[in-house]
Amino acid sequence: MNANSNDVQHIDDGKLKDSKINVYNPKKTRELVNKLRINKDLEDDEFKYLLSMDEAESISILRDAAREVTNEHYSNKVYVRGLVEFSNICSQNCYYCGIRSGNQDIERFRLTVKDMLSAVDSGYEIGFRTFVFQGGEDPKFTDDVFEEVISKVKSKYPDSAITLSIGVRSYESYKRLKEAGADRFLLRHETADEGHFSYLHPSNQSFEQRKRALYDIKKLGYAVGTGIMVGSPKQKIDYIVKDLKFMRQLEPDMIGIGPFIPHKSSKFKDIEHGDMYLTLKMLSILRLMFPLATIPSTTALNTIDSEGRIRGIMHGANVIMPNLSPDNAKRNYNLYDNKKISGKESADYVRELNEYLMEYGYEIDFSRGDPLTIKNK
Ligand code: SAH
Repeated sequence: MNANSNDVQHIDDGKLKDSKINVYNPKKTRELVNKLRINKDLEDDEFKYLLSMDEAESISILRDAAREVTNEHYSNKVYVRGLVEFSNICSQNCYYCGIRSGNQDIERFRLTVKDMLSAVDSGYEIGFRTFVFQGGEDPKFTDDVFEEVISKVKSKYPDSAITLSIGVRSYESYKRLKEAGADRFLLRHETADEGHFSYLHPSNQSFEQRKRALYDIKKLGYAVGTGIMVGSPKQKIDYIVKDLKFMRQLEPDMIGIGPFIPHKSSKFKDIEHGDMYLTLKMLSILRLMFPLATIPSTTALNTIDSEGRIRGIMHGANVIMPNLSPDNAKRNYNLYDNKKISGKESADYVRELNEYLMEYGYEIDFSRGDPLTIKNK
């Protein structure tokens, strides 16, 4: 699956390329990249040009600018977040997702509060100072349960940050969890096109609802993260432009994007995974639009390419999220096929990760690593 710049694949019969654009020239790329860097925004056609270009020189012009901007604000530091996947039981049925409620072919698990706290303990010991709780929308995880987890982690480790990635909830629920001590919230909007959103989700969900949740989260003072899957089924380049514009309006503090990867027991099982280069271009474009945001190089990117993680960093990402979940959780938290699972994320693992990053001129920063958007407020 290792791709190189000569065999860039685009899904959906090339609809992810703008058919009107067929001549690329480095001078134009440079102009647009500079414009994006200065204005943090572009006209639709200009975004389409950058998203469609697929020869190596143009992509590296974009990458180098994104790296420079990342370096200006975050130097060569890569923040680490300890990911705790607490449940794969989900009341939602997002059609692309391996843990959706309709999937019968899955072994379900749910961590206890004690399991979650012990995952945090072991992560803290290694040096992590941000913990991300992510899971399905499991009805057993009420506000009371999260309040308990959050307040216990915060009282034991007041110098750490808590990020929630627990889906759409009410304003009151988000408020309680913020008051309990949660700092950040990740909720990908998935797609800013209503029609596309309804293609990917059942009718009880909508883009409007997710947007409402994101603005609630923001209003409550969380650092807010959003994002999309690159190459999701029936995605078009126009939708990606809409996504960029939606993010420009929302002004997220964190942005999570990774390639769509099919799951074997979903109706999208035969759809090709999202293109690596398009994902990398998106990372660079987002870095130029949001210089102060924290942007992870995702597990999904590392799943489609063995060097995906470092490629993401070199294209403007500045966060890696090692997995602190217990082994059975790791095995069964399969949002998509062939998810890269590492063994226990031990001190050794983190040291190796750091050595690997250092080969490329980067190093792990173990601090809380608040997005600079927040620090500068
Ligand atoms: N219930 C939470 C967490 C969902 S899983 C929520 O709704 O926010 C976290 C992210 O994984 C999703 O937002 C989605 O963008 C991504 N994801 C799900 N299925 C995927 C797939 N098949 N390929 C790639 N990413 C996927």
